[in-house]
Amino acid sequence: MAVSDHVNLEQFMAGLKRRNPNEPEFHQAVYEVAANVFDYIADKEIYHEMQILRRIAVPDRIIMFRVCWEDDNGNIRVNKGYRVQNNNSIGPYKGGLRFDPSVNVSILKFLAFEQTFKNSLTGLPMGGAKGGSDFNVKGKSDNEVMRFCQSLMTELHRHLGEDIDVPAGDIGVGAREIGYLFGQYKRLTNRFVGVLTGKGMEYGGSPIRTEATGYGTVYMMQDMLKRNREDIEGKNCLVSGSGNVATYAAEKILQLGGKVVTLSDSAGFVYDKNGINEEKLAYIIDLKTVRRGRLEEYAREYDVEYHAGERPWQVPGDLAFPCATQNEISTAEARTLISNGCQGVSEGANMPTEAEGMKAFTDARLLYAPSKAANAGGVAISGLEMSQNSARITWKEQELQDLLREIMENIHDRCVEYGKEPGGDYVDYVKGANIAGFIKVADAMIAYGVV
Ligand code: NDP
Repeated sequence: MAVSDHVNLEQFMAGLKRRNPNEPEFHQAVYEVAANVFDYIADKEIYHEMQILRRIAVPDRIIMFRVCWEDDNGNIRVNKGYRVQNNNSIGPYKGGLRFDPSVNVSILKFLAFEQTFKNSLTGLPMGGAKGGSDFNVKGKSDNEVMRFCQSLMTELHRHLGEDIDVPAGDIGVGAREIGYLFGQYKRLTNRFVGVLTGKGMEYGGSPIRTEATGYGTVYMMQDMLKRNREDIEGKNCLVSGSGNVATYAAEKILQLGGKVVTLSDSAGFVYDKNGINEEKLAYIIDLKTVRRGRLEEYAREYDVEYHAGERPWQVPGDLAFPCATQNEISTAEARTLISNGCQGVSEGANMPTEAEGMKAFTDARLLYAPSKAANAGGVAISGLEMSQNSARITWKEQELQDLLREIMENIHDRCVEYGKEPGGDYVDYVKGANIAGFIKVADAMIAYGVV
């Protein structure tokens, strides 16, 4: 008879912290899932016997390497490159690459762990991974970014493959970087295969991949509101970030009749009381993706409030869409949102709310969709980009729009299935997402035995 894993949550977390010291983001991400999963598996012996949670919380492997490149002045520069391949039980490893000075093993382990459950929730066959580098794209010329991407891919390509591991973009990795990375992969291997997603439409990209994460985050809010016989029209929306996820979340909010009053970047936020309309949003997308400038310029151009070094959560609003980075809503800010009458939060960024803040949202019975459910639209369309690449075809935009809508609705419904309070009507979407995401991965692992 096997020895069962009947430790309690506190004992489990103490062991995890002991074995993974100095990794606070990873501890936070595991705790958030484990807290719900422990309850769910309490009477399900097989998950204990097979030590499933303990196994998912150890990545299959972590690849770390040196990335040398030459800047425009001929200086040799050195960065660290990483790929955390967390779990491939339900499909090839899949998850973005992040280029940011804050990147370290703890952050990538948390992101790869989260990605494992998120990808499961989409219903598509994708495992979980994440990678990137501490390289700072800000202030670098296009040529420097190209040389860096080529150097990174020179090592990373050994670990990738259309059926092995398929990265995409994330913070600091957009269309430009994916182009350089794919170009180098193709040069090194002489193979044109779907080994990266988020590619340009000229070379194997999918319609609406760029928009999918932001759109999906808003669809999740739309579905939560609909369950309460409400909609986004006329609501004041606080959005943070001004990158890929934030700008397309803002675009979808506008299409649905909502009013976007804030956006932010790492230097501060703008508060535009009149609302950021389509024309202003186009200015911001150009500012951020072409001119690579600061949001402060937007405030000057349109003569609106700019708050340097601050985040938008003090502004009263009906709905909040954190779309910048992890832990960007502190517990105190979560409480401010609640006391200001915020009705719903849908997370475009990964783990943007501190653990106690998440609890505050559910305790206050907000409509609260955690990132692994709310931002899964991006990786879902990435999964469909992989399918299109394998079949060597491109689907019509409308087909993908419809599929994205359907996938987000399914994710919403699965959260309701596992997160609805017994005997009541409130849905704990955090619990629902964690359990629904866990089951598929866990059952696949059980089928494989001890591997
Ligand atoms: P981008 O690089 O396009 O944009 C990131 C935005 O967040 C920028 O406005 C940036 O400001 C801001 N930002 C970055 N770091 C900080 C910080 N420490 N404090 C405040 N603001 C910050 O990234 P994405 O839009 O792709 O990603 C945003 C979030 O969404 C991340 O959490 C990512 O993991 C998550 N996500 C992204 C997906 C995608 O498809 N792209 C899929 C699922 C999740 P600045 O311009 O000053 O750098």
